[in-house]
Amino acid sequence: MRIVLVGLPGAGKGTQAAFLAKNLSVPHISTGDLFRMNIGQGTQLGRQAQEYMRAGQLVPDEITIGMARSRMEQPDAVHGFLLDGFPRNVFQAEALDQLLKDDGHSLDVVLNLVLPHEEAVTRIAGRRVCRHDSSHVFHVTYNAPHEPGLCDACGGDLYQRQDDTEETVRERLEVFDRVTSPITEHYRLRNLLVGISALGSVADVTERSMVALRERGVRADRVSTPACDR
Ligand code: ADP
Repeated sequence: MRIVLVGLPGAGKGTQAAFLAKNLSVPHISTGDLFRMNIGQGTQLGRQAQEYMRAGQLVPDEITIGMARSRMEQPDAVHGFLLDGFPRNVFQAEALDQLLKDDGHSLDVVLNLVLPHEEAVTRIAGRRVCRHDSSHVFHVTYNAPHEPGLCDACGGDLYQRQDDTEETVRERLEVFDRVTSPITEHYRLRNLLVGISALGSVADVTERSMVALRERGVRADRVSTPACDR
């Protein structure tokens, strides 16, 4: 099963992807996480990506597509994956179509998490991510950890991403509107796009996503409530 998650920064793609991937038994592939991992490890790819990310700009396509392709070719992704943050422009969407076609595959569904811009800014400004596991995501008000600054799931330190400042967030939203949102049309034309409201609790959005996947014929019957949702 091959699924793409699309949505504004802050729409909750990473949070939802972690739960959905678990429920569907496919790997969660986040290009943002892969870049951050490379930056953390000081790789050449990380050094190439860092400045673009810090400025809220997209990392160039040849770097991003190569990285995404290598990840999708790993053995755990043979039977499918949940893509989060890729593709992020029409060129990348076309490259993904071609990659899948070359392997005799295609996408099953594209979930579009829809959120008003102002809500995205509020969510991102309060977002805190676990240093040990980036799928553990909290919000200082909306989804606060029991102990401020500590991850409920594993006790890791929570930190604010470098590109989560209000100024960079505005830039990222602008890039989304101009460069990323046209991919929704790309997928609408291919009858793959399903829109879901990203408002409400994490569990609400997970439930809506699972319903949408089921309606699309994706076996998605093992809904478990996100542990950190309160
Ligand atoms: P968010 O969805 O909250 O913006 P991500 O973690 O997905 O966060 O991405 C963070 C940054 O990583 C982006 O602003 C961009 O610089 C870079 N990035 C991630 N995915 C891509 C991509 N597919 N193409 C280009 N740049 C990307």
